[in-house]
Amino acid sequence: MKINKAIKIRIYPNKYQQELLEKTFGCCRLLWNQMLAERNEVCRRLKDNPEILRNYRYKTEKDYKTRFKFMKEVDSKALQSTTRNLIEAFKNFFNGLKEIRKVGYPRFKSKKNKQSYTTYNVNNNIKINFEQKRIKLPKINMWIKYRDERVFVEPIRHVTVSKTKSGKYYVAILVEQELDVYPLTQVHENCIGAFDMSASEFLVSEKEHYINPRFYRSAEAKLRRLHRQLSGKKKGSKNQWKTRLRLVRYYEKIYKRKYDWVHKKTLDLSQRHDAVILEDLNIRGMQKFNGGLSKSVSLDFSWHQFKTLLEYKLRWRGKHYQEVDRFFPSSKMCSVCGHKNENLTLADRDWICPKCGTQHQRDENASVNLKMEGIRLLQEKGIVVIR
Ligand SMILES: [Zn+2]
Repeated sequence: MKINKAIKIRIYPNKYQQELLEKTFGCCRLLWNQMLAERNEVCRRLKDNPEILRNYRYKTEKDYKTRFKFMKEVDSKALQSTTRNLIEAFKNFFNGLKEIRKVGYPRFKSKKNKQSYTTYNVNNNIKINFEQKRIKLPKINMWIKYRDERVFVEPIRHVTVSKTKSGKYYVAILVEQELDVYPLTQVHENCIGAFDMSASEFLVSEKEHYINPRFYRSAEAKLRRLHRQLSGKKKGSKNQWKTRLRLVRYYEKIYKRKYDWVHKKTLDLSQRHDAVILEDLNIRGMQKFNGGLSKSVSLDFSWHQFKTLLEYKLRWRGKHYQEVDRFFPSSKMCSVCGHKNENLTLADRDWICPKCGTQHQRDENASVNLKMEGIRLLQEKGIVVIR
């Protein structure tokens, strides 16, 4: 099985190299914004002519390069992937319209946000010297220092260069790895974990409760203080700039803490189970029915990130990840007799089945139902479940 693995390292470009990177970020951003503006304008103009709109030929990267001559000075692969990303973003947006999960309309890129560009390894134009800890990127053509201990031999597919809001530079290197893994054809029921997502506890199964440490919430007071300090500073002053940097760094720190936690939890789950079943629940829907949770809650529940990491960690071990449709009535159904309790409300944490009299804890009952449904779906895929 071939897998893609990303290795992220921090790089330390000198002043001149920073300028070159900045130029590439700038050109990619300009190209993205120009292409997006063109699409917006065309969509507005031709909204009553879907046939013409569908076959409309947008300007190509080449056209833009002719118009903005300086684009020729930066990495052409970076511009190509910018184009590809924009097309992809539109595709996802239009596909998302048909589904329940909404994907946002592509947005203009701002200089104030995180900057990045992706470039491809062609004819070995991306080189790494592990001994001297230096990396060479296309068109930059100079060795850039980095700090990281990892050494790898796999071929590099592409790299994404980024600069955080606080001014740190990173390179995420994507390599292709050959893994000697075969997907399990049978799993033991005891080794299957099914989890219900809960706003108060994150993940709940019949056996265990995973609590979300809520990094953003615990940092809320300090964040508020920093935001207040920032608004009190004179616009454009050095103090404002310093305070903003402090705020941005603090956000990055919390994000890192949360990300580490997600990594550890998903690793642990993938080591202890042969298959994991989760409910396909979108956080936006949840926010709605909880009457709008605060920002710190939505930042703390990175459901999508959690799922993505868990899914690939299981896959790398030949294990299975199974999602259950969010419309499956996992909470309302009695896991003992199958009776559907339509009177159950969100406030009911504990309930007694009116038909068979079993006492249920809401989330635990839901996870038992999820497990049964997930096992059915795994079997549908031809996986044998040993009971
Ligand atoms: Zn019952």
